[in-house]
Amino acid sequence: MTLNATEQTNHFLQQGFDILKIPPRHKTLLLTPARELRVEIAIEMDDGSLGNYIGYRIQHDNSRGPYKGGLRYHPDVDLDEVRSLASLMTWKTAVVNVPFGGAKGGIQVDPSKLSRRELERLTRRFVDQIAELIGPDTDIPAPDMNTNAAVMAWFFDQYSRRYGFAPGVVTGKPVELHGSLGRDAATGRGCLFAIREVLAREGKKLEGTRFSVQGFGNVGSWFARLTHELGGRILAVSDVKGGIFNGDGLDIPRVMEHARATGSVVDFPGARAISNDEILTVDCDVLVPAALGHVLTKDNARDVKARWVLEGANGPTTAEADELLESRNVVCIPDIYANAGGVTVSYFEWTQNTQKYRWPEQQVNSKLEDYMVDAHRSIARTMEEHRCSMRKATFVLAIQRVQAATEMRGLG
Ligand code: NAD
Repeated sequence: MTLNATEQTNHFLQQGFDILKIPPRHKTLLLTPARELRVEIAIEMDDGSLGNYIGYRIQHDNSRGPYKGGLRYHPDVDLDEVRSLASLMTWKTAVVNVPFGGAKGGIQVDPSKLSRRELERLTRRFVDQIAELIGPDTDIPAPDMNTNAAVMAWFFDQYSRRYGFAPGVVTGKPVELHGSLGRDAATGRGCLFAIREVLAREGKKLEGTRFSVQGFGNVGSWFARLTHELGGRILAVSDVKGGIFNGDGLDIPRVMEHARATGSVVDFPGARAISNDEILTVDCDVLVPAALGHVLTKDNARDVKARWVLEGANGPTTAEADELLESRNVVCIPDIYANAGGVTVSYFEWTQNTQKYRWPEQQVNSKLEDYMVDAHRSIARTMEEHRCSMRKATFVLAIQRVQAATEMRGLG
């Protein structure tokens, strides 16, 4: 039976609930989103026609702090996907121990079909539709798939027109507009710290370790670039148009130049073409799915040759694939830890906005390292205590923190 996105996330949570013996009424509380909003976004297109889009904002839990989570523009966005991603944010902010809850938003749109002006109108109209429910101390969106600093700038501006200057309403803003230094690279850099810590625990080094990376956007390209700089060997990378492979390792700065010039990694000289399916089964040490969800399934999990799966993307491994991988001793470094660098630096950005003070990039990067190392230490302790997989331990840690906050606040 194929589970939908929310059921996949709930499956992992259920494993944590079982280990912690969470009572049923608390389970319901932890699983159910606090608020779900669906809006219609009507905009005038450049040719004068009417564009009609559906957007969502789902606020899952705020027991540990204001709701926090990205905003995704993608044709596949639907209520189920956003609901699952909102829940993941609750557990992610808890794992890295930043004082936020979890939320997610999305618009069902293919942004490559819209002009820049249309995208701006879409974003501003969406802000108008959800404005009453967000705010610097209420719910703070951020970039996700197909949204970036430019989209966050429109977001901030539209909100501020209504409520006055409020840079903390959104994170991932341009550095020139109250964004944080280091935010752009943060998720990829956080992934790097995560795998470095996991390898070190087994007495291994990043240098010489072989990687295959699916997705060459914000997360994938920054991860590949930083890992390459530290001597990691990136054998394969891909984007929506296809992938490239070189068994000796790709020259990542040159791949980045090629992708910038041509719009894709495809046809990079000195590499052979591989498909987005093949990239998942490349003979390597660490597989990094950093594009879409649900790419590792029961149909391909047996063919994964990597020893570690570093989840740069949200929800890339289905419940069935997770079981197959675990039975083959493949270690999944779960999304709620692996890609938490983004929300951690979002927290630093929000802190800087609140303090009206700018941190130097070195401070941002070194604080990010502290948070990722600390979280890894707590996860490793939980793995030892409960003798369970890294994914189960990470959910256990997160559930314990959210459950404690929920209980302390009370239900009255
Ligand atoms: P992005 O839009 O910058 O890049 C996405 C990449 O995936 C691009 O290279 C795109 O070509 C590729 N892609 C799209 N469709 C594909 C397909 N069908 N097959 C293969 N590749 C495809 O997005 P991003 O910000 O890098 O996010 C990637 C993943 O990481 C998402 O799951 C997102 O939720 C997660 N994530 C992002 C952040 C962040 O800070 N950006 C933080 C945490 C998690």
